Amino acid sequence: MTTFKSLGLNELLLKAVEKLGFESPTEVQDKVIPILLEKNTDLVALAQTGTGKTAAFGFPMLQRIDPNKRTTQGLILSPTRELCLQITNDMGIYGQGIKNVNIVAIYGGANITDQANKIRRGAQIVVATPGRLKDMIRRKLVDISAIEYCVLDEADEMLNMGFYEDIKSILTHTPANKSSWLFSATMPPDVNKIAKKFMHNPIEITVGTKNSSAKNIDHQYFIVGARERYNALRAVISMNPEIFGCVFCRTKIETQKVAEKLIQDGYKAAAIHGDLSQNQRDSVMQSFRKKKIQMLIATDVAARGIDVDDITHVVNYQLPDEIEIYTHRSGRTGRAGKLGTSIIFVTKSDRRKIKLIENKLQTTLTEVQMPSPQEVFTSKIDHWVGQIKNTPVKSDLQSYLPNVNKSLEDLTKENLIELILSKEFRSFDLNPKISEFSRESSSEGRSDRKINAPKDKDRFFINVGARDKYEWTTLKDFLRSFLKLGQDDVFQVEVMKNFSFFSTHNKHRDLVLKSFDNFMLDERKVSVELTKKGRTFSSPQKNFKKKKPRFK
Ligand code: AMP
Repeated sequence: MTTFKSLGLNELLLKAVEKLGFESPTEVQDKVIPILLEKNTDLVALAQTGTGKTAAFGFPMLQRIDPNKRTTQGLILSPTRELCLQITNDMGIYGQGIKNVNIVAIYGGANITDQANKIRRGAQIVVATPGRLKDMIRRKLVDISAIEYCVLDEADEMLNMGFYEDIKSILTHTPANKSSWLFSATMPPDVNKIAKKFMHNPIEITVGTKNSSAKNIDHQYFIVGARERYNALRAVISMNPEIFGCVFCRTKIETQKVAEKLIQDGYKAAAIHGDLSQNQRDSVMQSFRKKKIQMLIATDVAARGIDVDDITHVVNYQLPDEIEIYTHRSGRTGRAGKLGTSIIFVTKSDRRKIKLIENKLQTTLTEVQMPSPQEVFTSKIDHWVGQIKNTPVKSDLQSYLPNVNKSLEDLTKENLIELILSKEFRSFDLNPKISEFSRESSSEGRSDRKINAPKDKDRFFINVGARDKYEWTTLKDFLRSFLKLGQDDVFQVEVMKNFSFFSTHNKHRDLVLKSFDNFMLDERKVSVELTKKGRTFSSPQKNFKKKKPRFK
């Protein structure tokens, strides 16, 4: 068996490997690391995210740079801010034992002066998104004229996002004799063009089959009616109660709609799409990473760079137009040696697309029948029973037991179970739609569920949440009384740790935005933003206190 030692890593890096608990190199590491350590060569590696590719280029780069020189020697270009931060973090961990090595991330949407200061202090490795890097080169805040190694990570995604010209321009500022290492999940013509234009006889490495998706992903499809997608999604979640999933929709509006429906139905869900500001996107991603959100509903663009391990299911709410995009979507699961499931909802008329995917991925997709309502219900009850069995016993309740036992002593075990089950679940109509199978709503949920939302509604983001001791009920009460609105005028209130969302009819838009001008909570400006088509509107920021709210 190959070991990291036999690939040629030095002692410092081997220590990091040991600390990380990586037992053996992944396929891409096995193939790439020895080449990059031994040769000054260009390289094109076809590898999906989740295959361990960051370490495949990261270890050789860390081993080859000279940490005693302060000049920038390695550049890593990545498509998104999220991925840029992830790579910087991973590289920091991989290089933790190397003295004096500085790895600096530069990306848009954050303070450029802070980033420039970090670079000025000496950064041997810079991890950057193309737009911000180009800007900093123009302002002479970063010097990449002496780099020896240049990584283009997720090259296909960078080109999909329209960074071709930026990359071209950035590369003109780098020396001709550097080594370029390009990593991409797929090889569309544009990536080929970059490879041909900027690389010299690159060594080509393919992990798995070209254009095929990772082997540890189980690809399944459900034939659904065009209007049945949401019910199908509910069924998938119900049948997999421990799901930690990402649902891909084609439009921002659909993304938002699906997330809101799930929230109304009591699931921990959130949407991520281009209408959210960068800060809102970061908050949502953070909640997802920490598993405070169970289902992330995303557009393809917003999902670029979602780099979260442990995603158990990817759901294609609709199929994308290009099969390449399907590969990206499904590659969000089945990472780091774990098993994942990629599910497609497909209408009968689109069924032929399944064949196309099978041909392209050279794998078989399994048709799965929609579970019957009874199966869904049985699965819910099984899950609930499992949860009861695993509930830790609270010792401080012991003293109350004799009294409770006495009160229930007339009941048999069977009677008692029947009563608890009836309290916990709705009565079961034998012919219900799957969407009707929701757990009886209780006050302990995190969101405002059963609301007939008007069509002309606005959805707002507010930067208060559970850390301010709010639940959805108390936040809703506060918003209603503060805005002087009626009982049902504030709805779909969803509370996360640091922020929340709520909806109102759009006739209240000005009232909501203006009311929070200068509103302070514990010395913090409360800000409310509208999350809807196009831009995010904010309530204006001013620096004086208006009044202190009576928060509990
Ligand atoms: P990447 O493809 O670089 O995004 O890596 C995906 C995940 O795999 C990361 O969480 C890494 O920490 C993990 N990983 C990378 N290399 C190995 C390895 N050799 N063994 C186990 N996990 C790994």
